[in-house]
Amino acid sequence: MIMVTGGAGFIGANFILDWLAPRDEPVINLDKLTYAGNLQNLAALEGDARYLFVQGDIGDAALVGRLLEEHRPRSIVNFAAESHVDRSIHGPEDFIQTNVVGTFRLLEEVRTYWGGLPEADKAAFRFLHVSTDEVYGSLAQEDPPFAETNRYEPNSPYSASKAASDHLVRAYHHTYGLPVLTTNCSNNYGPCQFPEKLIPLVINNALQGKALPIYGDGQQVRDWLYVQDHCSAIRRVLEAGQAGQVYNVGGWNEMPNIEIVNTICALLDELRPDPAGPYSRLITYVKDRPGHDRRYAIDARKIERELGWRPAETFETGIRKTVQWYLDNQDWVSNVASGAYREWLGLHYGDS
Ligand code: NAD
Repeated sequence: MIMVTGGAGFIGANFILDWLAPRDEPVINLDKLTYAGNLQNLAALEGDARYLFVQGDIGDAALVGRLLEEHRPRSIVNFAAESHVDRSIHGPEDFIQTNVVGTFRLLEEVRTYWGGLPEADKAAFRFLHVSTDEVYGSLAQEDPPFAETNRYEPNSPYSASKAASDHLVRAYHHTYGLPVLTTNCSNNYGPCQFPEKLIPLVINNALQGKALPIYGDGQQVRDWLYVQDHCSAIRRVLEAGQAGQVYNVGGWNEMPNIEIVNTICALLDELRPDPAGPYSRLITYVKDRPGHDRRYAIDARKIERELGWRPAETFETGIRKTVQWYLDNQDWVSNVASGAYREWLGLHYGDS
């Protein structure tokens, strides 16, 4: 069995579904179900004996300790986090609580549990911490992409809290010998992403005829990776990564935000034409986000070279699948938007 934290969120849910598709090794999913957690993402696993959901906080030491002793996972993948940069600007407190204090409490419980494992299990155990390229700060146009050796220079409360958690994870390896792995990945996109993030926001606003807000001049560059490629990288690192190592994960898909939005508009024009005219008419420039990083880019050569990982999707194939998924899953979107999935939660899992 493996334990996943934050598995009801965007990437965690995709990870659990992909994990269980070809294999029988069970997964226990510990998720607090914040606004970003959505059990509907995992509805296909309802009643599946290989899957156990527990609602709870990674910062709840007693709960985490009990789950570890009861279920004895061979490894842990930590997705649980507050993850939205804009929210971190308006309310950083939750980010410190979950991403920093929560990761610390989780590490403490894992350290105790791991220390008590038989030697062979202890050696095979891995704590994989899922992190972001945003910890490296911002790049100038002429800079090379972020390598694992880049200095940490986080610029938002979100990235600072993730940076702090990465440092704690690193310290638990160096100080206590805990076999940790850290992955720092670029922007993900794909099915089940909460519609506050750029790509689903643009798709959904366009379908509703609403403005497509672009921060500043829209020239901020990000590297984009299809979520299932991120999940395959995590599986590969879990399987073959060297304890104590960091792996940058990216898709070699640097693109300015405005180009992403134009690509989505063109795909929607093709797949769901709007009689009112091309979707790009809805593009609206808004005041830039404070401290907005200009460019992120990932040098993924280490994971490619050492672990043989490669993304399966190009941006063109991944974005087409994503737009199609949102078109096919408008119920999911309206449930998330209306909060109806909370009712669904009460119906299916008791009123928790
Ligand atoms: P998300 O916001 O969609 O999901 C986060 C999940 O964590 C939710 O289900 C939420 O309920 C849960 N959670 C929050 N606080 C918790 C707590 N205290 N205890 C237990 N569960 C809690 O986020 P995501 O986009 O799926 O990101 C997952 C991880 O990957 C995060 O650590 C994030 O920093 C990292 N990451 C995300 C991206 C991206 O583009 N989305 C890129 C690189 C790295």
